[in-house]
Amino acid sequence: MAKLSICVFCGARMGGAPAYETAAKELGRLIGDNDWRLVYGAGDLGLMGTVARAAQAAGAETFGVIPEHLENAEVGKTDLTEYVVTKTMHARKTRMYEEGDVVVVLPGGAGSLDEFFEVLTWRQLGLHDKPIYLINTDGYWDPLVALIDHVISQGFASESLRAQITLLATPAEVAENIGR
Ligand code: AMP
Repeated sequence: MAKLSICVFCGARMGGAPAYETAAKELGRLIGDNDWRLVYGAGDLGLMGTVARAAQAAGAETFGVIPEHLENAEVGKTDLTEYVVTKTMHARKTRMYEEGDVVVVLPGGAGSLDEFFEVLTWRQLGLHDKPIYLINTDGYWDPLVALIDHVISQGFASESLRAQITLLATPAEVAENIGR
C-alpha cells in the first residue's frame, strides 16, 4: 500500500519565535516515525528546510517540487527521495496538491497563505476532500481564523467554510486526527 503523503505548507523563513522551529522539527520527526511521506516545496531554508531535515533524520521518504526560478533563492534540496523541478509556480503547487493526501500548514508567510487558501477554496468547491490541518503554534493562526470567521459573519461565505479546516495546537495532534 502507498504511504500516506503529508503535504506541508510552511515558511521559507524561520519566523520570530523558537516555537516555530520546534513545531517544524516535531512535524518532520512525526512524518518519519509514522512511516508517512513528506511532500513539500523542496526548499532547504526556513521552516521548509527544518521539516525536511527532521523528516529525513527520522527515515521518512521525501518528495519535493520547486519551480526552476526558485532553485537558487530557496536553495533546492536535491538530496530528497524525489526532487522535481517545474517550469512554473503553478505547476509546483498543482504537483504538491496532487501528491499529498493530507495538508498540514505550519506558520508561514504570504506563500503559505496562498497555498492554504488555494486548497481551502478548492475544498469548498468540492474539488477534493483532503483534510486541512492548521498547526496553531503559540496562536500564530488566530488572526487568520478570526478573518475567516469575519468573512462568514459578514455573509461572504457559508458557515461550512469554517468546518473545512481543523485547527491543531501541535503536530502531535495530526497523528491523533489521522488515526481517527
Ligand atoms: P512563505 O510562506 O512566504 O515563506 O513561502 C513559503 C513557500 O510558499 C515558498 O516556497 C514560496 O515559494 C511558496 N509560494 C507558493 N505560492 C506562492 C505565491 N503565490 N507567492 C509567493 N510564494 C509562494
